[in-house]
Amino acid sequence: MSKVDAPRHDPVPIGEVAAPPFCRLPDPLALFADRTHRLRVLSVGHELAPYLKFLGNLTEAQYRIQDDLPAPEMPDVDARKRAREFGMPPLDRNRFTADAAYDATLEHLLSLAGTIEMPPAAAAALARVTAADAGAREAMMRALLADSVPVEALAEHIFVAAALQVQFARLAAGLDASALVPVGEGACPCCGGPPVASMVVGWKGAHGTRFCGCALCGTLWNMVRIKCTLCGSTKGIRYHEIEGAGGIVKAETCEECRGYVKILQQHKQVDADPIADDVASLGLDLLVREMGYRRGAFNPFLIGY
Ligand SMILES: [Zn+2]
Ligand SMILES: [Zn+2]
Repeated sequence: MSKVDAPRHDPVPIGEVAAPPFCRLPDPLALFADRTHRLRVLSVGHELAPYLKFLGNLTEAQYRIQDDLPAPEMPDVDARKRAREFGMPPLDRNRFTADAAYDATLEHLLSLAGTIEMPPAAAAALARVTAADAGAREAMMRALLADSVPVEALAEHIFVAAALQVQFARLAAGLDASALVPVGEGACPCCGGPPVASMVVGWKGAHGTRFCGCALCGTLWNMVRIKCTLCGSTKGIRYHEIEGAGGIVKAETCEECRGYVKILQQHKQVDADPIADDVASLGLDLLVREMGYRRGAFNPFLIGY
């Protein structure tokens, strides 16, 4: 008896050829509501449970404060057009200045954060940020937008990072996805930021394709698989995971630049979230760092208490 493979056994069924969009803009409410849920699920029985629960509460605050915020000031049409012509992101992180929406976002976030349960070190950091003057807050904002937060001051920056994420997700949501263009290797087409992680997605019509997730604005942009998200090399790409950890998070390492960024198997875990799953897989960072790879992703929440 012979066995013939019928076309229906192909991994991509006829009529469902993967045609991924270039990018998917964030829905600012769903982004933080879904992340809250994911952090709470991940916290159960986790060695970082108190910290993950705190982040769950913080992301819930990012969701809740949006009820009562003024609209952020969008870059004007000419500036967006110019950015597109020069292959630049429409939301320029380096030129960002606080508007009424950002000021209200930070105020509301700090005030709501004061009511949530958190580890003592986080509470002390919150007290310092709340007491900080405008100049110190501005310096924290600039450090975050330049992805250059001093390691010893990460705790303070978490709250400012949370406010910036809300602001930039709301700005990104106001852009026209069809007007966005690639702005460079490993850079978010909305804000120019680096990916926090990438995901192989299970979305209808895009099953098995890969998207990078922005740590700041939450935009997801398409990128081919088996390619370094840091330097663009396609040679010497390897995948590492912690045995018995469920296979949802892997580290994609590159021999060319010796860097790594995590890759999530969202098609196997529908609610996987770049920020949440990155923090919860800290053990994987330790493993690949021991192998001599440098972490290439930026996640303002990746610290433990
Ligand atoms: Zn972005
Ligand atoms: Zn590389």
